[in-house]
Amino acid sequence: MWIDNHGYFSLNFVTTRGCPYKCNWCAKPIYGNRYNSHSPENIVLEIKKWQQQFGFTHIWFADDIFGLKPNWLKDFEYHIKKENVKVNYKIQSRADLLLLEEDNIKHLANSGCSMVWMGAESGSQRILDAMDKGTKVEQIYEATRLLKKHNIHVSLFLQLGYLEETIDDIKLTVKMVEELLPDDIGISVSYPLPGTVFYDKVKEELKGKSNWTDSDDLDMMFKNTYKPEFYKQLQRYIHRRYRKQMGFESARKLFSQPSGQNLKNTLSLIKIIPQEFLEKQKLKQIEPDATAKF
Ligand code: SF4
Repeated sequence: MWIDNHGYFSLNFVTTRGCPYKCNWCAKPIYGNRYNSHSPENIVLEIKKWQQQFGFTHIWFADDIFGLKPNWLKDFEYHIKKENVKVNYKIQSRADLLLLEEDNIKHLANSGCSMVWMGAESGSQRILDAMDKGTKVEQIYEATRLLKKHNIHVSLFLQLGYLEETIDDIKLTVKMVEELLPDDIGISVSYPLPGTVFYDKVKEELKGKSNWTDSDDLDMMFKNTYKPEFYKQLQRYIHRRYRKQMGFESARKLFSQPSGQNLKNTLSLIKIIPQEFLEKQKLKQIEPDATAKF
């Protein structure tokens, strides 16, 4: 099924448990603050063993944070080369971690990393600070620039509707997406998971609502700056707006870098431009004042 749908076979691996960072909405109760990690050598030997058996060519490393320990990525590259393992892989990471050691991104590229999903969350420093994210907006820009330079695809996780976020913060997030033009974006709405600092801040407002029973990941469960339906519609609008920008970018490149993908993205504008317009009209009906600022 994987090969039929994607043209290649991918397997999931996990090399670590836990995360020492302190983003105050994150599901820390599951693994806690400890960070336990297998050695790079051990992981490479595992990959080699299972690859011989199943012939996969891609891995999704599902670690919350991949390669945090000092020199882990350098050693991983060393063992990948030593064992002559050929594999592409995808990871999740943070902007500051990607920049932590000088050659982190180079080691990722040299060991087969083809995609990084970065927990960017917001283009507003005020919101990142309120989340205790511990990253700077400039780091998101710099990490994205370096990943692209090393031909690693970069995708951004974004979060809408954190406490006290206003349309000005949202505009900064949209601006960041349009300036960076990542390869993909994933948008969720701030979600109060029990056991987190964020949950404690809003629990009085949940009024007996249960996670997952009374909500999904795009439902705003607490009273926020805008109506709950605004956030659901906002993510649809941002997705269309992002696709439109990607279409324009592909159109711009079409003559200097002709490719099937650039042609496809350019042609998709015929569909996306009216879609984006309609999504914006729907957004306007929900929160006219906020939408007027886009
Ligand atoms: S969001 Fe990512 S970096 Fe932050 S605590 Fe959770 S796993 Fe760690």
